Amino acid sequence: MSFADLGLNESIVKAVLEKGYDQPTPIQAQAVPAVIEGRDVMAAAQTGTGKTAGFTLPILHNLARGNKAKANCVRTLILTPTRELAAQVHDNVVMYSQYLPLKSAVVFGGVKINPQMQKLRQGVDVLVATPGRLLDLFSQNAIKFSQLEVLVLDEADRMLDMGFIRDIKKILALLPAKRQNLMFSATFSEEIKTLAKGLVNNPVEVSVSAPNTRVRSVEHSLYAVDKKQKAPLLIKLIKENNWFQVLVFTRTKHGANKLTKQLEAEKIVAAAIHGNKSQGARTKALAGFKDSSIQVLVATDIAARGIDIDQLPYVVNFDLPNVSEDYVHRIGRTGRAGAQGQAVSLVMSEEFKQLKDIERLIKELIPRKTMEGFTPVNKLPESKLDTRPFKAKKPKKDKVEHKDGQRSSENTRGNKPVSKNRRHRAKAGSNTVKQAPRVS
Ligand code: AMP
Repeated sequence: MSFADLGLNESIVKAVLEKGYDQPTPIQAQAVPAVIEGRDVMAAAQTGTGKTAGFTLPILHNLARGNKAKANCVRTLILTPTRELAAQVHDNVVMYSQYLPLKSAVVFGGVKINPQMQKLRQGVDVLVATPGRLLDLFSQNAIKFSQLEVLVLDEADRMLDMGFIRDIKKILALLPAKRQNLMFSATFSEEIKTLAKGLVNNPVEVSVSAPNTRVRSVEHSLYAVDKKQKAPLLIKLIKENNWFQVLVFTRTKHGANKLTKQLEAEKIVAAAIHGNKSQGARTKALAGFKDSSIQVLVATDIAARGIDIDQLPYVVNFDLPNVSEDYVHRIGRTGRAGAQGQAVSLVMSEEFKQLKDIERLIKELIPRKTMEGFTPVNKLPESKLDTRPFKAKKPKKDKVEHKDGQRSSENTRGNKPVSKNRRHRAKAGSNTVKQAPRVS
């Protein structure tokens, strides 16, 4: 099947072909015709499946046929949880609409609001936004929704995890009732289903049910290692294997900064990306990582969410995540589009519990490797596969990270940090487990 077979406008097909895609991914093949038809869509899809083009292409197709946006009006609103994802989605919109007379903009917190207000003044056909900044702009009369035709919630599960439910509800209340709704989520917890019920109308359900092909292209492994030896082991792995474009996950912002310094001391060009970094620093780090001038990007989970880099070859779990599903999300960054990827975890004995939970979730034991000179003093016990159904746990009470996309003045405006119950994760259940095979 080709993109033209999906009924897309020639100008869009041209842009897509120029990007080098020769055929639609499964999610695109399912979502594009449904969206063109004007149906609501509920899609189970993670980053890496081609979901962004799956909703962007048909939206652009439909917008090209309608009336132009009036001053301050927005015809399509795409909500994303993080600034980075918003920027990436917008880059896609710009690329796919390059041969169409459509206007688009992206707005998120952490940068000046005035240029965004100016951009909106002329009206835009597509606006990509994080929830907090969108509400700020609305409260300053910079946006009107009277012409809104389509709403997209991208990574809806992450939006809930990050405590955006109240903002989303506020936004929904501002939109015209008659509109097309598209919802994308990697997992479908009860909370997501409840949100969907109030949002989508008789939706076409789209699911990329067997992403196993992608999965096979990710090679997992772990090294049992003492805490103090983690950084030296990572440095050795990077240097000996000549790893480039390595995305390293740490659990905390402090850990990310510390590791970045250790790498730099070894002449490895690295940058940290987390919620305490300014938007400018984050954008610069991401750009440097994409053009390979930065060899290693050290990130916390929230900051890394939605980072889309083609065929990212190496993902390292410097710390195992407390929430097992995050392992699946982290690994989702590698081995894309059929390219081989490596996911390497450095695991100390204190992380055995997290390891067991992850292996139970992904239904396999992660193969163990050893490196001479790094045998741990504190032995990591051998794991046995726990075949009981996976039960997701609430995350431990970590320090709350800066909420991407939340308005920059969040604390002064009385927005409370995300509380335990707002942060709650996808519940265990067949749906959650269904998503897990991406890495099994
Ligand atoms: P996404 O799931 O939207 O984050 O997309 C993941 C990656 O797949 C992006 O880098 C896209 O550029 C790429 N992509 C999207 N659609 C296709 C396609 N039909 N063929 C090949 N690559 C694609």
